Amino acid sequence: MEAQLSNQVEILDWRSNLSNLEIPITIQNNSLFLKSLNTLISGGRINISDSLKLYNTPDLAALCSFADLIKRSRFGNNVFFNDNLHVNTTNICVLACRFCAFRKGTRHNDAYELSAEEVLHRIEPYSKIIDEVHSVGGLHPQWTVDHYIDLYTKITTTYPHIHVKSLTAVELKHIATRSGISVHKTLKLLKDAGLNSIPGGGAEILVDSVRDRICRGKENSSEYLEIHGIAHSLGIPSNCTMLFGTVETVEERLIHLDKLRLQQDISSGFQCFVPYPFLPDKTRLPEAQLATTSEIIRVIAISRIMLDNIPHIKAYRMNIGDYVASLSINSGADDIDGTVGNEEIMHEAGSKTRLDYDKHELSNLVTSSNLTPIKRNSIYTKFEEISPKTANSIIMPLLNQEMSS
Ligand code: SF4
Repeated sequence: MEAQLSNQVEILDWRSNLSNLEIPITIQNNSLFLKSLNTLISGGRINISDSLKLYNTPDLAALCSFADLIKRSRFGNNVFFNDNLHVNTTNICVLACRFCAFRKGTRHNDAYELSAEEVLHRIEPYSKIIDEVHSVGGLHPQWTVDHYIDLYTKITTTYPHIHVKSLTAVELKHIATRSGISVHKTLKLLKDAGLNSIPGGGAEILVDSVRDRICRGKENSSEYLEIHGIAHSLGIPSNCTMLFGTVETVEERLIHLDKLRLQQDISSGFQCFVPYPFLPDKTRLPEAQLATTSEIIRVIAISRIMLDNIPHIKAYRMNIGDYVASLSINSGADDIDGTVGNEEIMHEAGSKTRLDYDKHELSNLVTSSNLTPIKRNSIYTKFEEISPKTANSIIMPLLNQEMSS
């Protein structure tokens, strides 16, 4: 099973590549960065104590160039994205996380729940363009596993080419409880119905004292990791996330990253790490510290440095916007999510990021940072370079091979 999930573009020899790359001038005389570089080259791991020193360095340029060096050792000049659509099945939720602008109570005027047919209706206009639907929602008080079996069966029957990435860990826990079955059984049934992978949402900060302040009632840190581990054991890959800029400390962000890489040591099914800052509109968290642009970039960079066993780091445009995303792909991130035909959760909380890009337009964001835009599939096994200038796609049959060297 582990072999099945070992990421198809996992770079076998990135540490060796790292030793062959030219050391950026910004870190050539910095003993902490040089020590960290040698640790990675020799197969070691950057511990939390050194990560804290790196994160807090006054030399932001050095931090970014170090993270970029590691990114280049894995993926060279390439930056990935996919053609995808977000469909949120319901905003009705039995919980009320304080950072959440999306959820509604059952009787709220704006509460909604989509039938399977309505979900298909939303996919239909994009169905010839996208190859992934990303579908999450609130914890609906009535829906059981049967609702989602019906939904995924209909999606995969109608659009067999579309990858279904759906249900966060807390949704899976809720559905399993509502259905009176285990998470393992729930995931097995859903996989058989067409669920292909699960997103990483709901990790927030994997420190229970923080969770108690911002999302009381949600699954605890161990449950989040355990549910992803179960998915990985069933051959279902997943992403993992971090919501930062609420009430956590920098040390707690690093503890979070350490927990993710320890879980990855065990189950090896995380494809991509997606850090995103808290957006405050319509939320109930007035004491939130919020994250500055510098902090967002530092989080992206330290994620690349610490997560030596999770291949992809995403600059999540939906939260950080296109400008910060374009900085992030020179600071350790190798992925900018997708064209995103529609998105509600972050836009409810204040995101102004443009939606529904054409893939050539999105490529401009990458080439403007002097990098190469690569459209990928959901599990990073098919790649296509997209040319922003000619608006023609250049098929690169050898790229898969390049990605794994
Ligand atoms: S974050 Fe998810 S679980 Fe929490 S209130 Fe919002 S929809 Fe519900």
